[in-house]
Amino acid sequence: MELSRIARLPNKLLTALACKDCTLHKTRRNVIIGSGSLPCEILLVGEGPGANEDLRGIPFIGPSGKMLEQGLTRALRNLHMEMPSHFITNVVMCRPVEIDETGRFHNREPEPMEIMLCRKHLIDVFNEAKPKIIITLGSVASKHCKLTSDNAVFNVVHPAFVLRKQAAQPRFLRGLMTALEAYKERYL
Ligand code: SF4
Repeated sequence: MELSRIARLPNKLLTALACKDCTLHKTRRNVIIGSGSLPCEILLVGEGPGANEDLRGIPFIGPSGKMLEQGLTRALRNLHMEMPSHFITNVVMCRPVEIDETGRFHNREPEPMEIMLCRKHLIDVFNEAKPKIIITLGSVASKHCKLTSDNAVFNVVHPAFVLRKQAAQPRFLRGLMTALEAYKERYL
């Protein structure tokens, strides 16, 4: 399967494009609201955009995106199902970076204050998506989405973690299968 790419976004969500509410706006190239279908059956929520995403304005297009796509493809094949309509976003819409002594940018986790300030944009996405289930990628997204949604939330290891620790691959696949199987049992 291929993750849905850029879709026409509702005007309500486009307000984030001009947002300067946290300091991440100073180093971003793009505000990455998300991509896919709205409304959708499944909302996937990651931690924050990385370098590739910041450059192109699309979430999960780098190595993590590839890992996610591979994991979903395997999980769907094992469950004999097609990928339901979905949208993918992050708990912060601008790339969190730290700058080293040579001036190079590196990805980092979003800070609680950044997540809190970006929460209104994530809630706007929830409201437009009206998902049946939410799949959070990594512990930061898991914690935040439990605070903001009544939907069934399934937490899965972040694909970036799987890239660093291959041993986490089975757990990653199991997590995706648990979420998709729950969707299949309830809604298909
Ligand atoms: S991360 Fe969110 S709150 Fe911060 S500037 Fe970007 S859109 Fe605004």
